[in-house]
Amino acid sequence: MATEFDFGKDTAMKRRDFNKSILMLGLGAQVGLVKESKAATLNQSTNGYLEPAQELPVRKFDVAVAGAGTAGVVAALAAARNGAKTILIERKGYTGGTVTEGGTALHSFYNLWKAFPGVKKTQVVRGIAQDIIDRLLKVGGTSGHAEMSKGYDYDSVCTAIDTELYKLVTMEMLDEAGVFIAVNTLLTGAISDGSRLRGAIIESRSGREAIYAKSFIDCSAYGDLAAFAGADYKVPNDYSCCNSIGMANVDLDGYVAYLKSNGGANQVAHGIRSGENDRIVRFNGGLGRDFRKEARKIGMSSMITTVHDNYLMFVKCNFKVPGSVLNRDDMAKAELEVRKRQARAVELFRKYVPGCEKAFMARTSPTLNIRRGRLITCDYDISHEDVIQGRHFDDDIMAYGFHDNAPRLQIKDGGTYGIPYRALVVAGIDNLYACGMMITSDHRAHMSTRNTVCCMGQGQAAGTAAALCAKKNCTSRELPYADLRKNLEKDNVYFEA
Ligand SMILES: Cc1cc2nc3c(=O)[nH]c(=O)nc-3n(C[C@H](O)[C@H](O)[C@H](O)COP(=O)(O)OP(=O)(O)OC[C@H]3O[C@@H](n4cnc5c(N)ncnc54)[C@H](O)[C@@H]3O)c2cc1C
Repeated sequence: MATEFDFGKDTAMKRRDFNKSILMLGLGAQVGLVKESKAATLNQSTNGYLEPAQELPVRKFDVAVAGAGTAGVVAALAAARNGAKTILIERKGYTGGTVTEGGTALHSFYNLWKAFPGVKKTQVVRGIAQDIIDRLLKVGGTSGHAEMSKGYDYDSVCTAIDTELYKLVTMEMLDEAGVFIAVNTLLTGAISDGSRLRGAIIESRSGREAIYAKSFIDCSAYGDLAAFAGADYKVPNDYSCCNSIGMANVDLDGYVAYLKSNGGANQVAHGIRSGENDRIVRFNGGLGRDFRKEARKIGMSSMITTVHDNYLMFVKCNFKVPGSVLNRDDMAKAELEVRKRQARAVELFRKYVPGCEKAFMARTSPTLNIRRGRLITCDYDISHEDVIQGRHFDDDIMAYGFHDNAPRLQIKDGGTYGIPYRALVVAGIDNLYACGMMITSDHRAHMSTRNTVCCMGQGQAAGTAAALCAKKNCTSRELPYADLRKNLEKDNVYFEA
């Protein structure tokens, strides 16, 4: 039996019916189908629908940033603060990305000084990332840089955030900087002219538009813009996907007391909680064999951080997607599987963990979080040795000192390594940068470069560089490093040498 969308043999007739039904639904004007119906045809050999050509309205900017997540917010702020007319394109209705959806805390603004006696405590990520923390502090939206008193061979400070205030504060900062904030807007294509990227295609309920810019930054986590622009990429699928629960109605003191009676916590940090200083904001420890056995079945990991009494974030349920993380249908199955796991996770907390008897799921991420989507090929690929040997480069754009595999893998002597400018320059394209989880092919090196605070630092460098390129009318490879460095230093970015 033919369906409404099966044009079958009687193509013209069915197309008319289809357009009529769209009109009746009042959707015609929105999707532009009725207006364009003369040009719309069915491809007889494939039975596919040939989309009609359409003239798009054009908006022009100096810098266009794809993705308003961890790196993208900072990139757009840096570009706008350096004088560029900047657009930030985000498919969701808010800013913040994985910081607000997946992570435990922001790892880590400091070197790992405590694990290396004699090493000086140094804040190695500053600049806009620190500006965001300062703003959050004013509204009670962060634990502050809470020093780890246990587990400091893994992390040195825990900077936990209120995820909802993070969204608000970053959006306000973007607005103040004059960024054109295009939320609820999906980036769907690119306009290339040889090796130069001319524009991005976006779609929203305001219709399809072409965004022209002099410089572009891909912070979409999945590398969508780079892929549309024809950049070289791989899809390693080398991590589990995850959705994280924020769990409310928890008696934190009861939970901590239970841990103490059960061998104690192996991670502890004290910071600001519910407006009071010196309170536990991060803890972790053994929850018993039965809990562990059940937790393993649902890929649950619970490194607990909080900035509010009675609330835990993030309890993570992981799942390795059997197919491709770019395949809608594989991901749909994964979304369902992880939601089942999340319900089970709350049951386990209620059953096994004193203080959590009446806990419930207060928030989840709207989609699965990913630790790596596409890997975009850039002019330099940061290696595992670069990271753990603490190498710095002639074109460093920041320093970073955290490794997610610590204490097994740490940066040599509690020091830092540098992210070279070249690592953000997309290979083969003149005016496109890549930032965040989409760079660094070696899984072990990626376990450091993909972390939140490192992504933010990359964003500041790319935003600043893109603004300078737009001002100088030059390509990313023509930009004099000395100019970039001078501007980053002016904006409080820390350099080791
Ligand atoms: C489950 C999980 C737990 C983690 N835990 C920690 C932790 O505890 N501490 C830590 O430091 N790091 C942690 N990380 C790593 C870190 O959070 C991420 O690597 C980092 O936040 C990635 O930043 P990003 O800017 O690359 O991407 P994101 O922050 O994900 O931003 C990408 C943005 O692009 C948008 N976007 C994507 N495609 C399009 C499109 N086509 N059009 C428009 N918008 C688009 C997305 O909606 C999103 O807002 C974790 C990661 C995951 C997944």
